[in-house]
Amino acid sequence: MTKKQRALEVIERLKKEYPDAGCTLDYDQAWKLLVSVRLAAQCTDARVNVVVEGLYEKYPDVEALADADVDDIEAIVRPCGLGRSKARDISACMKILRDEYGGKVPDDFDALLKLPGVGRKSANLIMGDVFGKPAIVTDTHCIRLVNRIGLVDGLKEPKKVEMALWKIIPPEEGSDFCHRLVYHGRDVCTARTKPYCDKCCLADICKKNGV
Ligand code: SF4
Repeated sequence: MTKKQRALEVIERLKKEYPDAGCTLDYDQAWKLLVSVRLAAQCTDARVNVVVEGLYEKYPDVEALADADVDDIEAIVRPCGLGRSKARDISACMKILRDEYGGKVPDDFDALLKLPGVGRKSANLIMGDVFGKPAIVTDTHCIRLVNRIGLVDGLKEPKKVEMALWKIIPPEEGSDFCHRLVYHGRDVCTARTKPYCDKCCLADICKKNGV
């Protein structure tokens, strides 16, 4: 089985297993996803979803958040960890959206990458989820699972994993596929415990099982 064949089979099986898998960060506007992805670094999505409620209550739009005092933002986002640097990035980011993009999030990968605190993972997430464009989001679950399954070989660096996956994942499948890897990584192919291979829908095509 080639990597591409394996990838296509994994995509189909995960579709059946997690038909409705989507982004686990709550948002109803693009700029809010931008804020949430920054807060999600080294923090759970569940906690981010709670913290942003307080943030948006006080600062309901890009203008308000751009005008906000960084110390105030920090006080609210502190439970997500790395409060100072996250608050600084969010403030700088909102100012750029306000001043350079008319308050909108740019739908261009390179423009997203230039925003403070936005790396390839975040830019891909926004391209896929907000704009429906091809995207590969290499978060910790994705990297662990694609190595175990055998879609990449011993790659840990996110950009290398992303580039390897672009070669074998149909572009239009990438975004949903990565969301499903998160679900599968949390429920079955877990990081901290031994993976539950005995109840895994990929067991007979997974490299970790010697296939
Ligand atoms: S078979 Fe085991 S290692 Fe492979 S994806 Fe499933 S849980 Fe993970």
